[in-house]
Amino acid sequence: MTHHYTVLHGGTILSFDGALPTDAASRASGDPGVRDAAGRRATAICYAHERILAVGGDAEILAMAGPDSHVVDLRGRAVLPGFVEPHAHPYWEGFVAGMRLLAGRERRAALKALPGGAERLEPDAWLVGRYDPTGWDRPDDPTRDDLDRAVPDRPVLLAHVSGHAVTANSLALALAGIGPETPDVPGRSAIERDETGEPTGILRGPDAWDRVASAMPAPTAADGHAALARAAARLAADGVTSVADADLGSTAGLAAELAAWGEAITSGAMPLAVSLMPGLVRIAPAPDDAVPSPADIAADLPDAARARVRLTHVKLKADGALTTHTAWLRAPYEDAPHAGGPVHDTSALAERIRGAVAAGWAVATHAIGDAAVAAVLDAYAAAAATAPDPAHPHRVEHAMLLDGDLIARLAASGATAVVQPEFLAWAGATYRARLGEERAAQLLPFAALLAAGIPMAFSSDRPVVPGAPLDGVRAALRHDSGLSVAEALHAWTAAGAMALGDDDAGRLEVGRRSDLVILSRDPTAVPTRAWARGDDGIAVIATIAGGRLVAGRLEGLA
Ligand SMILES: [Zn+2]
Repeated sequence: MTHHYTVLHGGTILSFDGALPTDAASRASGDPGVRDAAGRRATAICYAHERILAVGGDAEILAMAGPDSHVVDLRGRAVLPGFVEPHAHPYWEGFVAGMRLLAGRERRAALKALPGGAERLEPDAWLVGRYDPTGWDRPDDPTRDDLDRAVPDRPVLLAHVSGHAVTANSLALALAGIGPETPDVPGRSAIERDETGEPTGILRGPDAWDRVASAMPAPTAADGHAALARAAARLAADGVTSVADADLGSTAGLAAELAAWGEAITSGAMPLAVSLMPGLVRIAPAPDDAVPSPADIAADLPDAARARVRLTHVKLKADGALTTHTAWLRAPYEDAPHAGGPVHDTSALAERIRGAVAAGWAVATHAIGDAAVAAVLDAYAAAAATAPDPAHPHRVEHAMLLDGDLIARLAASGATAVVQPEFLAWAGATYRARLGEERAAQLLPFAALLAAGIPMAFSSDRPVVPGAPLDGVRAALRHDSGLSVAEALHAWTAAGAMALGDDDAGRLEVGRRSDLVILSRDPTAVPTRAWARGDDGIAVIATIAGGRLVAGRLEGLA
């Protein structure tokens, strides 16, 4: 039987099938002789439909081809496992894809672009967009007054690109019922006020978006489907074959987003492998609410989609973002008279995690500041004492500000660090302003995490940053000269699959899912310095998910 085999030959196949230890760990242990993180190298691969059938030399693999096989000469190109994106926001990415992003260098010029965004909207429609002040000459968040001046006649809601703050104009605040008397919700949404007590329009915290967006007309089912189709196309073009939504329900609510995912998977608009991580505070809003199990959430998916969705982790937030001064630090910010703070107080955090584990989930907790990472590790330890072991390791999302003690504690915890190298390329200058040079130098020590034996997966948190994995590799190698190219690629493939508990992805081995990316040439043959400078010349040629071409082309590889 040779029907419908696809044979790719004449290239470099990087299997990433080598188990840890990685290069950094083997260097640290003085044992450089082991296979590097790129795993086995071969020249050909054969797959049929969903499954990889063989990896090996050209003669051996070409012998499997029959008259019905699709045989492609790679002409020296490289085949890697498809990139795994264990922490992204695809619904949000698709939702904002056509919207204005106010960025650039001049704050005034950015805000001037705002009225143009309203031109094609219906008279009463909300103007929704995002802003990124990290490059602005005056990096102050926009206020309601700025927005009122630009667009006085319709509600306007701008989300900070990090997702941890929003600004609303006067009409939007009024529709959301937010005024001088509206109380803050400690840890969850803080309404910034001027000296007279009037809201400035800026809200910070994990619920800032919901607080205003709840007054907006809900996206329709068609909007949700279109958002996920757009996100799938963008991810596939970047070589991604597995994606996790790391806060299901955060844009349009749990029910609407779950329905959109079910519909997009069933219709084929979302052809990638999907993991959904429901927001814990969305499936169990009050601390003593019973936490629904993964099976309870899966029951709301259509039958045809259920088997294609992984539900292993819930998402929880311990703090906010450095860019919005909401990350929780041990010592105050360099440029603000406070140290941020927790979203949940320490005992509530531990209780939430224990409840999720008891319901059958592992937990992925967002923790950026050093105080937040410490609190999460305490909470994981406390939960372990009273709840069953989850089937998959817990995760710490971002884990940005770490010292030697926290690295050792993270290693001992067994949790996976899911980190975002492209954050450093995007907001490095802002981080230095927030933390001072000395603390900023402690951010994201990739090689040290690997040397400590911590499972480390890369991700982008897209659309916070554009999110192409190859740009993540470049940012990582620019930031940490102790990291190898193979390790950076391992963090985008095998390690990401492990973070998702997905045995089928992340490695090119017989029997695993045929998820592959074809790159223009062997990425491990390009010197680290070239990657760090961005002149590696590596590009995605084609992306294959479950044996199906989802981006680029296979024919005419010249
Ligand atoms: Zn995120």
